[in-house]
Amino acid sequence: MPIIERVAWDNAGPEDIAYRFPKLTLKYGSQVIVKENQWAVFFRDGKAYDVFGPGRHTITSNNIPLLTGALKALGIIGDIFDCEVVFVSNSQFRANFGGKAYSAPSGDIKYQAEIGFYGYMLYKVEDPKLFVVEFFGNRGASTSRDVENYIRGFINERIISEFGRHDIFEVVKNADVTTDKVALKISDEAARVGLKVIDCVFEGINIPEEARRFASGLGAQAMMMQYMKETAGELKGAEGGGAAAAGLGAGVGLTMPFLMAQQLQQAQTAQAQQVVICPNCGAKNPVGMKFCGQCGSSLAPPAKIKCPKCGAENPAGMKFCGQCGSPLTQTAETTCPNCGAKNPPGMKFCGNCGAKLG
Ligand SMILES: [Zn+2]
Ligand SMILES: [Zn+2]
Ligand SMILES: [Zn+2]
Repeated sequence: MPIIERVAWDNAGPEDIAYRFPKLTLKYGSQVIVKENQWAVFFRDGKAYDVFGPGRHTITSNNIPLLTGALKALGIIGDIFDCEVVFVSNSQFRANFGGKAYSAPSGDIKYQAEIGFYGYMLYKVEDPKLFVVEFFGNRGASTSRDVENYIRGFINERIISEFGRHDIFEVVKNADVTTDKVALKISDEAARVGLKVIDCVFEGINIPEEARRFASGLGAQAMMMQYMKETAGELKGAEGGGAAAAGLGAGVGLTMPFLMAQQLQQAQTAQAQQVVICPNCGAKNPVGMKFCGQCGSSLAPPAKIKCPKCGAENPAGMKFCGQCGSPLTQTAETTCPNCGAKNPPGMKFCGNCGAKLG
């Protein structure tokens, strides 16, 4: 191995976040040249040691004490040693992200909405040593592209897992708050791998119309529950001691609010049946109308998918049954290309003629 006398990252492009010089044979006295906006990190056996900032450095045992200590511990004593040097850029970078996430299960049917998202993150390396250990040590990156891919994957992973903690009601009502929470979470976790998030911007959050309807339905239900609770509380409070003293009243005190709440619910259901609210513009339309009189949108109730396993009805667009968790997508029959017989989904061979399906 030739001894390298001068190490520099000369051809750094604006898109390059890091450059790894693998297996260099250096000596005490070799020069390491670090440009403005760069760091040089000494790296060996998956560990990061000393860090050089911008400037021209002549390697001595004094300015790489951590690596020198490690070499001594390995019994490597002398002027010549092998190590890797990873140059890291101090510039700001942009990572676009985008994908699909599922909201937390909500409501009685554990509805999960598919949320589309896209945006970008501005970031830079803040702790070069931690960054090198995480990306070049633990994740085996060797180029800027590898690092970029990891960062993009990292962002998407965090977004998907964070959305999975918020139900669709929260996402619809508080999209900004929810994305702020997601961004904060990404910031926290990025710091753990040596990165500083300058900005994390969600440019778009796509929530299917079906999910919006579901979320507003949930909202009405939640309001109803609250109203029932309040009414029950008021009635209880009003009757209070007098009823309890009468002995017989105690039962009435408990059942009355319940009955009233039930009546209220029935009244609201009846009312809800007289008008159909347009999912698009919110206009009230008489029952039986197929299209909104205001905007012309379809007023048909949302399509339901029957679970092929347990028979539960699920809102259209769901991938898994809210009742039993079975996949809902594979409901199509397969027509045999040989004899034309219809076969249940998932069959590999035709039940009629034995031909291979699909
Ligand atoms: Zn309408
Ligand atoms: Zn099911
Ligand atoms: Zn067949």
